Amino acid sequence: MNLLQECKGAGRIGISGHIRPDGDCIGSCMGLYLYLRKELPQAQIRVFLEKPAEIYGCISRIEDVDSSFGEQKKFDVFFALDTAADRLGAALPFFEAAGKRINIDHHISNAKGCGDVNFVDPDASSTCELVYRLLGREGLDVEIAKALYMGIAHDTGCFQYSCTSPDTLRAAADLISYGFDFSRLIDETFFEKTYLQTQILGRALLESIRFMDGRCVVSVLNRKTLDFYGAQPQDLEGIVSQLRTVAGVECAIFMYEMRALEYKVSLRSGDKVDVAAVASYFGGGGHVRAAGCTMLGTAHDVINNLSLHIERQLDGKEAKA
Ligand code: 5GP
Ligand code: MN
Repeated sequence: MNLLQECKGAGRIGISGHIRPDGDCIGSCMGLYLYLRKELPQAQIRVFLEKPAEIYGCISRIEDVDSSFGEQKKFDVFFALDTAADRLGAALPFFEAAGKRINIDHHISNAKGCGDVNFVDPDASSTCELVYRLLGREGLDVEIAKALYMGIAHDTGCFQYSCTSPDTLRAAADLISYGFDFSRLIDETFFEKTYLQTQILGRALLESIRFMDGRCVVSVLNRKTLDFYGAQPQDLEGIVSQLRTVAGVECAIFMYEMRALEYKVSLRSGDKVDVAAVASYFGGGGHVRAAGCTMLGTAHDVINNLSLHIERQLDGKEAKA
């Protein structure tokens, strides 16, 4: 796909990503936004996302993000980044009504793509890596490089997860050559936690329970606990990865109560369980080693339903990834 070719003649271009945007979603949307602004000064370009967390304040023009999703005239081209249409949230009507819909994603649960034009590669570490591929060396500048590097670093757990490939590292090497302070960027957007985040992480770890002979671990935060700390969904990022590091654990489950009898579930696995398959079964999706879904019922019901699928895989009754 040639980005500028696809946008040729477009007067209004929109960009959005998934609900509860993470580093890769924000990095890819902003990287593409900065690029299109630079290359297509005549076009009206808008970027829509739920309000990015304050840590993303270091990304150039983040203040341009429209989180009000107010009524919009039809877009000639609309980009859905890092997601299929189902998680576009309030941007879905803009995408659906657009003259041309373009989908750039790396989720295996969205392998076919949801646009008129699709650039989906489930083997890519991140959507930022895909945007990097599309821009090429000529398209980059220091601010775009910073946004894309952030997303790659976040989605690879700082180049640690198995989605990290030689191409990922080559992209990252190229990006840091633009000269931004990559060490500080990752410290501020990935490692640094607020006091509240460390408190709630501690609480979640303290209350975690191992089961299936220690091959699974689960932690649940109910509404009352979340309200006590005043925690928002973005304060809970990283808890599930921490649970996954427990020795012997093949699959970690973290879930929090969104409303009565409704849980947001995050799954992480080592090298035995395909959690994308588990999450997809329950209407969610993601990657083989990191996936999520929303489930209804009591916490007990949810855990029982999930563990049935996880156990089947661990016992080898289903194909392993
Ligand atoms: P997390 O557990 O960090 O929320 O998400 C892990 C991965 O699964 C991310 O790539 C995220 O985009 C994806 N994911 C999480 N929840 C859902 C969901 O409800 N539906 C789909 N399709 N993907 C999800
Ligand atoms: Mn991503």
